[in-house]
Amino acid sequence: MKIGMMAILISMVYQFIICIIYFSKKRLENADNKTYALMLIINFIGLMLELSCYITAPYYNDNILLINFFNRAFLIYIIIWSYLLFKYTFVELFSTSRKIKNINKIIINVFTVCIALVYIVCAFIAIISKLYIYNDNQFTYSYGIAASVTLIPCFISFIVSLLIVLADMKNINLKKLIPLFTLTIILGLCLVLREVNPGYLFITPMLSFITFIMYFTIENPDLQMIEQLNIERDRADKANNAKTEFLSSMSHEIRTPLNAIDGFSQLILEEDNIDVIKDEARDIMAASQNLLEIVNGILDISKIEADKLEIVNVEYEPSKIFHDVGKLAKSRIGEKPVEFKEHIAEDLPDYLNGDYTRIKQITLNLLTNAVKYTKDGYVDYSVRCVRQDDICRLIIMVKDTGIGIKKQNVDKLFQKFERFDKEQNITIEGTGLGLAITKRLVELMNGRIIADSIYGTGSIFAVVIDQKIVNKKKEEVKEQTNEVKTSFAGKKILIVDDNKINLKVASRLLASYSIITEEVLSGFECIDKINAGNKYDLILMDDMMPKMSGTETLKKLKALENFKTPVIALTANAIAGMKENYLKEGFNDYISKPIDKKELESVLNKYLN
Ligand code: ADP
Repeated sequence: MKIGMMAILISMVYQFIICIIYFSKKRLENADNKTYALMLIINFIGLMLELSCYITAPYYNDNILLINFFNRAFLIYIIIWSYLLFKYTFVELFSTSRKIKNINKIIINVFTVCIALVYIVCAFIAIISKLYIYNDNQFTYSYGIAASVTLIPCFISFIVSLLIVLADMKNINLKKLIPLFTLTIILGLCLVLREVNPGYLFITPMLSFITFIMYFTIENPDLQMIEQLNIERDRADKANNAKTEFLSSMSHEIRTPLNAIDGFSQLILEEDNIDVIKDEARDIMAASQNLLEIVNGILDISKIEADKLEIVNVEYEPSKIFHDVGKLAKSRIGEKPVEFKEHIAEDLPDYLNGDYTRIKQITLNLLTNAVKYTKDGYVDYSVRCVRQDDICRLIIMVKDTGIGIKKQNVDKLFQKFERFDKEQNITIEGTGLGLAITKRLVELMNGRIIADSIYGTGSIFAVVIDQKIVNKKKEEVKEQTNEVKTSFAGKKILIVDDNKINLKVASRLLASYSIITEEVLSGFECIDKINAGNKYDLILMDDMMPKMSGTETLKKLKALENFKTPVIALTANAIAGMKENYLKEGFNDYISKPIDKKELESVLNKYLN
């Protein structure tokens, strides 16, 4: 048997096996897999065509048309395969080589189309030009222009693949580089061999061998699956580490203020001097505030993720808000040699309409960061307003001479859980949530936030937000507030909560408004009170109570005849969307614990006046 024929038969066997293995397995649906699948099929067709050429060659004179068809079809196969190899090299390298990725897409497309055109022209020549068949006892091969023209695509594929590999060797994934490089060399060898003796027709068996090796190096679906799984596992590991890191940092963050609250409370119990007690109570309040900020940060992030963060616009006094925030930030400097420079423009409108709580939160976050990350020098805080018709464009700037942020980190500043220079900042408390929340809040108010920093020198943050100006003079509202405060006297509120401390806190707070309160420890007692004919102006109801929840109690109350008292949910259940849920359940309003005096006041104003 002729050597060529033997090589083809052997190639057919292993090609067939590879085809079965490849197509019977689950594959990733990516571009290089698709090209490889096509290469496998076309290669098998090529082997059959070449075998047909060998078998029919001795009968050339009897059946010229059929033999011509087999031979020319075989030449076309070589051209198509060369194109696929070229495309495959391109696709493979695209996914790993940075240099190629940086080339303009249009240039790449034009280049690919040009190569395809050359191949089409070659195929056309291979179909129409002269082709002769040589056949003796040892060799069978075709020759003439039609056969020679197929060398051009093979040569182009060889050169292009070689050049790409050489040009970007450093950036190409080594695992993919080695087989591709070997394949390219094998193809080159085939071409040389063919030139030495056209009878050495090893191209098809070699191409089969190439596709065969590819399966075990880069195209094995198992290998690809494993690679993909590894990528996914790394991703999951990273997310898991971030979560663990977040939990441990949260635990540390929460324990710090708790430690202060617990420690000072113990000291107060042993202290008789009222001034010292007041001082320590103030420290407890500061620590509680800090704790609340941490919990609120977590809640805000969960609201951001659930897309439930809301902006609530009300009237507010900007100059008061900005001065208050400044005072608070200044108090956080402590003993550090940091000067606090404050420039709040005097021409700010008396009243603006907007979400002052969130504006306060944004400003306080920038100022707290500036104070936290500055060891000495100054923190410069300025607020200006540019008026246009009834809009005040607030420009809030915070500049510091602190540790600064590396250039590569400035872009990541607003991503959640990102904290930089951890070794340097080990003693600085933080969760990495503040700026992510700040940015989202600014965006919700249709504003902008920008940051710039020189590492080791300092940072600057600027926020621009448009707020509607309210045409009202300061005194008018002050009078109104005074009026509102006095009008609660004589009002009666029932507080329902299973926790005695919570009952005490609520009743003490309400007592400061001269409100009469009654307290009960369960929903059952609440219903008994109402059934006994007691009348209240308002009911503050905890939800998470044993045996009967606040929501169930509310349902039972509503079923009573003539029950019209407004019921407010007063609960520590404050995750994203809870307010909406409680309103849906039938509560008239919602106050979260710990009770914010302003929030409480606004509810009292609404329901007791
Ligand atoms: P936190 O301060 O709680 O860690 P933030 O989201 O407010 O979280 O800030 C994220 C990170 O950005 C900080 O951990 C810190 O590394 C850096 N950063 C923020 N503000 C400043 C600043 N003014 N100076 C230096 N670094 C800052």
